[in-house]
Amino acid sequence: METNFNPARLNAPESLLGMSLPDLTTLMAGLAQKPYRARQLFEALYRQRIATLDEISVLPSDLRRSIASAGYIIGTPQIVQAARSIDGTERYLVQMADGETVETVWMPDGDGGERGDGSPAAFEEEESTPSFRRSTICVSSQVGCAVNCHFCLTARLGIRRNLTAGEIAGQVTAVLNRHNVNLGSARGTGKSARGTGTTAHRNGSPARINLVFMGMGEPFLNYAAFMEAVRLLVEGVGIPESRMTVSTSGIEPAIRAFASETIRPKLALSLNASNDLVRESIMPITRKWKIAQLVEAVRTIPLRTREWVTFEYVLLGGINDQPVHAREVLALLNGMRAKVNLIVWNPGPGIAYTQPSPEAVASFQKTLIAAGMPTYIRRPRGRDIYAACGQLKRTLDHSQSLAPSLVSPALIAIGTLSA
Ligand code: SAH
Ligand code: SF4
Repeated sequence: METNFNPARLNAPESLLGMSLPDLTTLMAGLAQKPYRARQLFEALYRQRIATLDEISVLPSDLRRSIASAGYIIGTPQIVQAARSIDGTERYLVQMADGETVETVWMPDGDGGERGDGSPAAFEEEESTPSFRRSTICVSSQVGCAVNCHFCLTARLGIRRNLTAGEIAGQVTAVLNRHNVNLGSARGTGKSARGTGTTAHRNGSPARINLVFMGMGEPFLNYAAFMEAVRLLVEGVGIPESRMTVSTSGIEPAIRAFASETIRPKLALSLNASNDLVRESIMPITRKWKIAQLVEAVRTIPLRTREWVTFEYVLLGGINDQPVHAREVLALLNGMRAKVNLIVWNPGPGIAYTQPSPEAVASFQKTLIAAGMPTYIRRPRGRDIYAACGQLKRTLDHSQSLAPSLVSPALIAIGTLSA
């Protein structure tokens, strides 16, 4: 991210979204403005989620013009297409300023992934008749992914590029704006952020937004931008870190860096196998970092009150779903404040795995629970529109040839949206 104001750069617009308060303070100083103007701009970008400079009425119009003529735009990513699942999940194709696209998913009643981790979101998951509406946004961190897990559709894209902090946080602001979510009282201000005077979305009940960084890409291979996005989302947008979970395929040095962050989401590690042999056959990255190294690194994270580490485990029929595997998982996680999220593998075209039998899933879960390990089966969300775990592959992108098998009826029904 660029931090120095450069008045000469007139032709390539620079996004304000993604800039921190110190970045904005430098920018304002370059325009001979006082620091409070930077604070106002920061609030407008993140708290109020204003999408065009013209709408930032708290800044005088000549200042807005100077910012624009210095080459800056807000740069909120655009939702260019959407598909809605029968279960209410919505999958968006989100376009960046350079035309690259990623997918972002909106899950109106959460994704079940928070159960048992001790967080506020977990208690809400378990509440039978919640007095509020809660939603989870699944956010992408890279265009494609370099990790090449054999069971994952995103892996087929390869890696195109990292997203910037603004593009990661911008997916959230774009989706919140689309649903008119008001986080006004999330930090106890009691004030409306978007001028409606209420703290509500949809049917008027309060909004609780959870974020899972589990979309396209490996967040820990884009660590600096990802963590900067987290800070902007916490300090700017106003979503508490206790409502955020990042999933990693296991990048050991990044897990160790993560352990010493002051502001950080909860961690989910994609374990996916109970020994290195099986894991290497489905996740080649295991050649670089063995399971024991990853678990050791996870153990260095100082867990906060009511924080559990999640181990995700994609069940692949006949590969990693046998009782012996469940027993090996228990041995690996012995003594950790951990829980396991079992994910039944979601099929994708051209991926030669099979789903585990319902009996294998039930028995795997039973073995873990019987040994005292909290274990949940993640509800698949939006499978019919290719929005479930591991199914994000920019299936709406016209820059690629559209495989008819990937285009769902729901998608065709909703079609192209204007940005
Ligand atoms: N790259 C990160 C986060 C995105 S993937 C990671 O791998 O952790 C989010 C989760 O989806 C991971 O736990 C991954 O193992 C799982 N996943 C990938 N492909 C899947 C598929 N086809 N079916 C079910 N889960 C899948
Ligand atoms: Fe990348 Fe995660 Fe898919 Fe593996 S599972 S290829 S790390 S997105």
